[in-house]
Amino acid sequence: MAELKKWYELPIGGVIDQPATALAYKTGTWRVMRPIWHEDKCTSCMMCWLHCPDNAIVVKDAKMKGMNYDYCKGCGVCARVCPVNAIDMEPETKFLEEAE
Ligand code: SF4
Ligand code: SF4
Repeated sequence: MAELKKWYELPIGGVIDQPATALAYKTGTWRVMRPIWHEDKCTSCMMCWLHCPDNAIVVKDAKMKGMNYDYCKGCGVCARVCPVNAIDMEPETKFLEEAE
């Protein structure tokens, strides 16, 4: 059996060498489902804002204004918690096809 390397022989990985770099990472490209907001149904209750794990719900003057797709990873939590079904989840491929 091969001998395992010592901890100090392993390559260094996962180093965060600068603080507050999350804004630089546009994690929206990970998304396979896209939340679609229906403004006409929305009551600006802020349930989606409260639960979004990526802080991707855009709010202005205490009103829901949509999603920031640069950071939304498409988890669907917002659609799940919306009490008036103002958010639908659609496959991201649908929008790729529309853009072509
Ligand atoms: S949870 Fe639904 S109703 Fe409430 S702010 Fe979000 S989209 Fe609007
Ligand atoms: S799909 Fe997930 S990440 Fe995107 S806005 Fe909704 S809760 Fe936030």
